[in-house]
Amino acid sequence: MTKPKVLLTRKLAEPILAYLQEHLDCTVWDKEGSMPRAELEASIHDYEGVMLSGGPIDAAFLDKAPRLRAVSSVSVGYNHFDVEAMKARGVIGTHTPYVLDDTVADLVLALMLSAGRRVAELDAFVKQGQWKKGGVKEEQLFGMDVHHATIGIIGMGRIGEAIAKRAVHGFDMNLLYHSRSAKPDIEERFGGRYCSLEELLKEADYVVLMTPLSPETEHLIRAEHFDLMKPTAFFINASRGQTVDEQALIDALQQGKIRGAGLDVFDQEPVSPDNPLLRMPNVVTLPHIGSATSQTRYGMAKVAAENLVGALTGGKAHVVPELKSLAVNTAK
Ligand code: NAP
Repeated sequence: MTKPKVLLTRKLAEPILAYLQEHLDCTVWDKEGSMPRAELEASIHDYEGVMLSGGPIDAAFLDKAPRLRAVSSVSVGYNHFDVEAMKARGVIGTHTPYVLDDTVADLVLALMLSAGRRVAELDAFVKQGQWKKGGVKEEQLFGMDVHHATIGIIGMGRIGEAIAKRAVHGFDMNLLYHSRSAKPDIEERFGGRYCSLEELLKEADYVVLMTPLSPETEHLIRAEHFDLMKPTAFFINASRGQTVDEQALIDALQQGKIRGAGLDVFDQEPVSPDNPLLRMPNVVTLPHIGSATSQTRYGMAKVAAENLVGALTGGKAHVVPELKSLAVNTAK
């Protein structure tokens, strides 16, 4: 039987590539980084499957890919999928849930600790030789506690739950959360409370945004929301840059409406060097590294490979919720 032809848009670890080659007829981008978009668009015509991590996978792209049956994204977020266009053409889209939850949650705690205790800012202070006897008053180095503070998680999904576990069991934090629906099991395990977005913003010391990016969550947090937050609160975003109105965040920080922020994601990525957020000492900025550890990126690539094989051969695959009706076999 002929194997389905697939395009792999970046280099993969040997065992993962060997597994893919066992089941599929693979063409691999063997240069550094990922295959440039123009190359991808020019090559996709003959392939039934593709493994990638960016987009957009929209009608214009799908028009260039008449044989395409499956797109395997090496990510849990799939806002680069135009699910309606994919559904209309019967193209299955898969993602990599669960495998990265702990790694992203660790990073969120790192952002909270770094912003609250001013780790990045004061690291620069020491390295620049500003730590001198009689240099600054002790109070000028004070931060805000993370332990026993109130965390407000917006988007209590897989990653939200891993954050809650760390916050409550590790740091004795009080937990508030907001999602589309209440989660009684979370409340049972972590003693948290489901509340409205407004209530969460008013009460939380650390507001953590962890929803997927969708038409409903684009600019979920806007100027009026920063007005509700405490002047001592921190805003942490590791979801997608577009879930917050970035200009409103900049304004809120400049006007002292909140105390600081920890950001792994930006409206424009890579972030522009003239973005005012980069000049604010009370803002911790990271280059979208939520899942970026060697172990987790390996795990994600493995799951994405299994998804691609599953989607093209009738096996199990983590199909994104909106496209589950197209798949024979969906993994949990
Ligand atoms: P998930 O399990 O699907 O959880 C998403 C949560 O968001 C759910 O609790 C959902 O509520 C909630 N939600 C959805 N729409 C909402 C709305 N309009 N208002 C309030 N809550 C809403 O997803 P996950 O695996 O935790 O991942 C979340 C996102 O994190 C991903 O989609 C991705 O964009 C981002 N992410 C970023 C990085 C990074 O590198 N920074 C890494 C991984 C993931 P219900 O449960 O009530 O439906």
